[in-house]
Amino acid sequence: MDCIFCKIVNNEIKSEKIYEDEDVIGIKDINPQAPIHILIIPKKHFEKLYQIEDTELLGKMIKVASLIAEKEGIKYSGYRLVINTNRNAGQSVDHVHIHLLGGRIMLWPPG
Ligand code: 5GP
Ligand code: ZN
Repeated sequence: MDCIFCKIVNNEIKSEKIYEDEDVIGIKDINPQAPIHILIIPKKHFEKLYQIEDTELLGKMIKVASLIAEKEGIKYSGYRLVINTNRNAGQSVDHVHIHLLGGRIMLWPPG
């Protein structure tokens, strides 16, 4: 499949992998929008968030994001999880992923 994140999962494209288990990986975003910008990516390919019926997997992705936040030292200073879905949200890679952002003050409402 011609999917950049599937290729990263399969080590066909290099990435800075900071986390891996049997279901998900965590990699540094190539174009970071904050001092800490990690992507939590399920190994299984889903294009859109609403296509995932597996609530255990969804829960695990959020749990892993919080564990990485702790490991990165931003658990108490604060962090933000973002899942962009479809055009209005600016989804640019059609393989579901959570953005973990931290290390600076975030604005609200988001842009
Ligand atoms: P989206 O726009 O779909 O919410 O997020 C896609 C994210 O993937 C962007 O933040 C972008 O910088 C990141 N990205 C795109 N291609 C690559 C890549 O090859 N490697 C890594 N590490 N990140 C990527
Ligand atoms: Zn994929």
